[in-house]
Amino acid sequence: MGENVMKNVMILGAPGSGKGTQGKLLAEHLKIPQVSTGELLRAAVKAKTPLGTKAKGFMDKGLLVPDEIIFGLIQEILDSPPAKNGVLMDGFPRTVPQAEAVDRMLKKKGAGVDRVLVLDVEERELVERLLARAAKEGRSDDNLESITQRLEVYHKQTAPLIAFYEKRGVVKKVAGSGSVTQISERMKTAAA
Ligand code: ADP
Repeated sequence: MGENVMKNVMILGAPGSGKGTQGKLLAEHLKIPQVSTGELLRAAVKAKTPLGTKAKGFMDKGLLVPDEIIFGLIQEILDSPPAKNGVLMDGFPRTVPQAEAVDRMLKKKGAGVDRVLVLDVEERELVERLLARAAKEGRSDDNLESITQRLEVYHKQTAPLIAFYEKRGVVKKVAGSGSVTQISERMKTAAA
């Protein structure tokens, strides 16, 4: 004991599955910072940084932002002092190459991905939630066209990560329907 061991937890789920909401609660519970690539990108878009300007077109269309933008963001966070005990990743990795990159970055720190929580929500409920969020928050990618594209990208590019991590025995599936509190309790149990 005495040495710093990172605990790295990841939340995987389709758009609208509640990664952001549950990520925040679980990160507080585990006392590790939440890293949401979606939030980081939206902040960059809002601040009109060069990175944000590049990312915006991809995001509005519901496409993934290119890896060279994402990798820099993640490396910077993993190297930052608040991440020394681990991070809770939400929305990253989203593709197998991103998962391989995060493996390399963590390996250099003598760490790895310890737990992958998969938030399971039915497709119909996902679309309903995203359309409701569109009406309430006005996120520029919450329109039917972008939602359809994001769900397709999820099935094609992100869902294969479940099998990728299942081979390591780190995956736990969590039922993502119910109240925020109910789901949060399930997440805490699954992350333990
Ligand atoms: P959602 O999962 O509801 O689509 P996110 O906030 O996780 O919401 O992501 C919003 C958008 O940000 C994505 O559609 C994509 O364009 C971009 N994005 C977020 N994370 C990544 C990532 N790891 N790689 C590439 N693009 C990303």
